[in-house]
Amino acid sequence: MYCEVIVDVAHSDVDKIFDYACDDGIVAGMRVAVPFGNRVTTGFVMRLKPETDLPKEKVKRVLRAEDDFPAVNAECLALTEKIAARYRCPKALVLRLFLPSEMRTGKVGEVYRTFARISGDVSLISPRAKSQRALVEFLAENGETDTALLNRKFGGALKPLVEKGVVTIEKRRVFRDPYRGVAGEVSEHRLTEEQNCAVVSIEETDKTVTLLHGVTGSGKTEIYLTLIARQLALGKTAIFLVPEISLTPQMLSQLRARFGASAAILHSGLSAGERFDEWRRLREGTARIAIGARSAVFAPVENIGMIVIDEEHDGSYSSETSPRYNTFDIALLRAKYNGCKLVLGSATPSVETYRRAQQGEFSLVTLRNRINRRPMPDVTIVDMRREVRRGNPSPFSNALREKLTACLNSGNQAILFLNRRGYSQTVICRDCGYVAKCEHCDVALTYHSEEDCLKCHYCGTKYHMLSACPSCGGTHLSYVGTGTQKVVGELKKLYPSARILRMDNDTTSGKEGHLNILKQFSERKADILVGTQMVAKGHDFPLVTLVGILDADMSLHFPDYRSRERTFQLITQVAGRSGRAQERGEVVLQTYDPENFILRFACDYDYEGFYDYEVNLRAATAFPPFAKIVRVMVTGTDEREAIDCLKEVYTNLEAVYAKYSDDFLFFHKMHAPIKRIQNKFRYQVLMRITGGRPLKEIYAAAEAHYKNTLVYVEENPSNLS
Ligand code: ADP
Ligand code: ZN
Repeated sequence: MYCEVIVDVAHSDVDKIFDYACDDGIVAGMRVAVPFGNRVTTGFVMRLKPETDLPKEKVKRVLRAEDDFPAVNAECLALTEKIAARYRCPKALVLRLFLPSEMRTGKVGEVYRTFARISGDVSLISPRAKSQRALVEFLAENGETDTALLNRKFGGALKPLVEKGVVTIEKRRVFRDPYRGVAGEVSEHRLTEEQNCAVVSIEETDKTVTLLHGVTGSGKTEIYLTLIARQLALGKTAIFLVPEISLTPQMLSQLRARFGASAAILHSGLSAGERFDEWRRLREGTARIAIGARSAVFAPVENIGMIVIDEEHDGSYSSETSPRYNTFDIALLRAKYNGCKLVLGSATPSVETYRRAQQGEFSLVTLRNRINRRPMPDVTIVDMRREVRRGNPSPFSNALREKLTACLNSGNQAILFLNRRGYSQTVICRDCGYVAKCEHCDVALTYHSEEDCLKCHYCGTKYHMLSACPSCGGTHLSYVGTGTQKVVGELKKLYPSARILRMDNDTTSGKEGHLNILKQFSERKADILVGTQMVAKGHDFPLVTLVGILDADMSLHFPDYRSRERTFQLITQVAGRSGRAQERGEVVLQTYDPENFILRFACDYDYEGFYDYEVNLRAATAFPPFAKIVRVMVTGTDEREAIDCLKEVYTNLEAVYAKYSDDFLFFHKMHAPIKRIQNKFRYQVLMRITGGRPLKEIYAAAEAHYKNTLVYVEENPSNLS
C-alpha cells in the first residue's frame, strides 16, 4: 500500500503531497513518522492508494504510526484543502488547527489507572487479617475503587487479596475531568411562545445560516441549548461557540447540569492534560457537544447537527495568528459539509452579517422582547460638558452619584463601565466635545507622542498637534483618559463602606483571572464592579439594577471604520446587564457628545435605526462591506532585510495595482502605525479594493522568502495598529 503524506513543516516549499509506502493499519487521518531529507518528521496521511507514480526504488516507507487512531477525521481532511486555499497557507498549518497543540509537542498523553473490585469468595479471608477484611468491606460499600486510594488506606492488604483471587484488578484508561465539583442546578425553562417560534423557524428554514437577532435578555441561550439538545436526541453532535469571556462559572455549571459528560468544554483555564482528554472524548464520540471559544470550531466531532456562534459580532472570532481565519467561514464550511444549520446569535449583529440577512442570504429571526416582557432598562443621558462647566471634575456626574447611592442603599449591585479603548491616543476637547479627524478618511486621528503629531492610520497623513480647539477655541484638549484604577480610588472616597471589584487587563491575568472576579461578583461578594470592555459581555447578574457608562463616546473616535459599530454594540451590551431579574434596571450614560446619532440609537435600543444610518455611511464612504481593506504586513527583526522584502512585495503589488487599477480605491505603502512591536520592524502596504478580483494576485504578490522576515495578508483586519 502507498499513502499520500503532508509533512508537518510549515513552509510553502514543502507544502505538497509526498508518497510513502506503508503497512496495513495505516489509515487516512493518522499522524505518522516518516523519513524526510536526512531526518525523521511527523506527517499526516491524507489518502491511501494502491499504486504510486514514483519509481519504486525511490519510495521510502512510513516508519510508524504516531497514535493508534486517526487524529484527523474524514471531514477535516476534506476541509484542509479548502481552508489552505482560502487563506493561502501551507496545509500543515491547517492540519495543526485540528489537533490540540499538546499533542504535537508530545508532552501529554493518555492516563491509565488501576481499579480493584471484589470477584471471589470473601470467606477465604482469614479472620485475623483485619486490614484485608476492612478493604473488602470498603469495596463492598463503595464499589470499584482506584488501587492508589486502597493502597493509601489499607497499606499492603490489596496484594494478598489479588493473589487469593478475592479481588481482581484492571488497568483502564481514564479521562481527567476538569469539572469535578462543578455542581450545577438544572434550570431548564419551558420555552416561551417567542422562543418556540424561533426554534421551529431555525430548524425549518431552507437556508443554512440563521441570524438570531434578539435583544439582551430575550433568552437566546435557552434557544441554542434546545436546538442542540434536539440534535443530540437524533444521535447527532453539535458545536457551540462563545467568546472566551462568556465561559463564566454560571455558564459552565448550567452546561454541565444540562448535558453532563456529553459536553466537552474547552477553555483557556484547562491544563494541557485536561484539554487533551476533552479533545479525545470528542474524537471518540463519548462527548458529543464541543463548547468553547473560536478554536472549538475545529473540534473533532462527526455527524454535526447544529453549529451555534453566540455573540457573533465579537472581535475574538477572527484569528490573529496564521492562518488568519474567520470563525464564521470555517463554521459555514462545516455546516455545508454536514448538511446542518448554523445559527449566529447577537443583540447587536455586525453590519456585515445583518446586511447578508437583509439581502436574503441568511434567514433572520428577531426577538424583540425580554423574557416575560421585562422592560429594557431606562437610559438617562448626561452631558459631561455641563458637568465640567459646573465645576465637577470627577468621573461621576451628579445624576450617576444619586442613582448609585440609591442602588447601594436598596442592597442591589452596580456595574461601572469605562470605555477606554483608544482613549489615550485620541484628542478630544473637553469644552465642546470636538474630536480631531482626518480630512480624507473621516476617522479620528491618533496622537503620536514621539513625533508630537497627529496621524491618520488609514492614509498616513500627518497633522500638527493642536494647541487650541478649532471648533470652540477652548484649550482643555485632552488625550489622557481616566483609568479604572483612578475610578476605583474616587469611588472609595465617596462610598467608603462599599465593596468594589475591578476588572481590566491588569486584574485578569493568570489562568482564571476574569472567572474569579465574575464569580465573586455573582456571589455578592462585592457591590460595585468597575471594568472595561470585559464587563460588557453576556453576563447574567440578577441583582444588578444600575449600569453607569462613564465615557460613552470615547470608542466612537477610535481610528477605525468600525468604531461607530463597536460603540453601539458596547453600549447596548453593557446596558443589557441591568435589570435582568425582577427589579427594573437603569442605565446612566455619560458623554461629551449627547446629540450623537449612534448614542441616541443605542439609548432607544433601535438596532434597525443604527443599521440604516451606518450602512448608508459605509456605502457613501466606500468602506466594508462595500469595499475590502487589505493590508500586507512585512515584519522582521532585521530592519535592512525587512525593507528589502517590503520593496520586493511592493513592486509585485504595484503590478497588481496597474492591472486592476479600477478596482482600487486606495494603494499605499508606509510604516505600520506602530513601527516596532517586540523588536520587530513593521511595514505595511495598505489597500482598499472593491470586488474580489485582485485578491488572489495580492496574495501571490505577497509571497516572498526571507530568512528573518514574515509577510502576511489581512482582510478587513480588526485592528490596524
Ligand atoms: P440572552 O442570551 O438573550 O441575553 P439569556 O439566555 O441569558 O438571554 O436569558 C435571560 C434570562 O432569562 C436568563 O436568566 C434565563 O435563565 C431566563 N430565561 C430564558 N428563557 C426562559 C424561559 N423560557 N422562561 C423563564 N426564564 C427564561
Ligand atoms: Zn486619512
